[in-house]
Amino acid sequence: MRAKHTTGVGDSGQEGLTPRHLYVHAPFCARRCSYCDFAVQVAAEPPVAAWVDAVANELELVARAQGWDGSLRLVTLYLGGGTPSLLGTGAVARLLSRVAGHADAGDLEELTVEANPESFTPELARDWRASGVDRISLGVQTFHGPSLRWMGRLHEPGGAARAVGTARAAGFDNVGLDLIFGLPGRLGRDLHDDLDRILALEPEHVAVYGLSVETGTPLARWVAEGRESVPDAERYADEYLAVADRLAAEGYEHYEVSNFARPGRESRHNRAYWEGVPYLGLGNGAHSYLPPRRWWNHRGWQEYRTLVARGELPRAGHEELDTAGARLERYWLALRTREGLPARKLEDGGRALVSRWVEQGWAAPDTERLRLTPAGWLLLDRLAVELDATAAAPTTTAARGGAGGEAGAGADPGVVVGTEAAGGTGTA
Ligand code: SF4
Repeated sequence: MRAKHTTGVGDSGQEGLTPRHLYVHAPFCARRCSYCDFAVQVAAEPPVAAWVDAVANELELVARAQGWDGSLRLVTLYLGGGTPSLLGTGAVARLLSRVAGHADAGDLEELTVEANPESFTPELARDWRASGVDRISLGVQTFHGPSLRWMGRLHEPGGAARAVGTARAAGFDNVGLDLIFGLPGRLGRDLHDDLDRILALEPEHVAVYGLSVETGTPLARWVAEGRESVPDAERYADEYLAVADRLAAEGYEHYEVSNFARPGRESRHNRAYWEGVPYLGLGNGAHSYLPPRRWWNHRGWQEYRTLVARGELPRAGHEELDTAGARLERYWLALRTREGLPARKLEDGGRALVSRWVEQGWAAPDTERLRLTPAGWLLLDRLAVELDATAAAPTTTAARGGAGGEAGAGADPGVVVGTEAAGGTGTA
């Protein structure tokens, strides 16, 4: 399924281009984690046929509404959740076959599927491999048993190593692991021990997520009742910087606020999002971006499914950024990445501002490009707004996310620093 690089993506002036990057949301989880506010449907046995139908029908509706002739020529496809590994064998092949009329996977350069250790079996790994999946993103989070139980995760401390072994045995040479930080101190989780164990598994990619308290979650209730407390900003920053230092020292490239990869193993799908190129998201809660329009689907599985069955686009909202909003977003997205921004594009005020950031240790001393350091990434939203203010009068458009922020299109729930899947609603 791997093939040539397709041009037309990543250029400026995206308007009118069809997306080459597809996110599909599989919302089902066996139970909801304590911190999760994601577009999740709890289901011990997911309705796979109904889900494939709904996603394929949504694509049909979108293609008709957009007036697309022929198939989208996909470069990346990301199946996120939820817990896609809960769908079992045959689901990925079925999905690919059902969307093939409108989404051509012949040029795919990356097909990622998210898995949770407890449902990632040898049989499923072989099935995904045979279906063309070439990248696995595993929701590990921690190896500390009490923390896993507190989070509501279903795997045991040994589950992650077993899942990585399963992936390797099936032939996967591109495995990413998710790691969480900022857990309540009273749990006694040893972040450095977790880093040792992550590194021992030799993943090609590591995504790090900071726990945050999201409205409506059990965690939010526990905090409101005074039964739980989460780390203060100082400890949060210390943990993030400790992870960044360790992974960099071990040869991982910190290529985006929350993402680290061995050379050449960056997520192509997520890069498309950060570069601001068009992408399509299918499924409940999924986000799409076809410049200049961005839209997002209803979050509830049942509502989504009902609307699509009625032949209606399941959109909950949309927006079109004005010039000022688009500029702020460009800054915000570019500053997320290791490449940052070309320094020549800065106004005089921007260059003076960046000099101060360099003195503070928030930006690298690079005369060619403005690149934030990990300490700067902790202040991403604020710095993007400050930079934007030097380019024009301040805008009223709010910056997105927190001190980073997988996933706008795609952040793990309850996470501040964290982004894996573009177009999605989160990682598991
Ligand atoms: S955190 Fe992940 S595994 Fe847990 S309920 Fe949310 S989507 Fe499912």
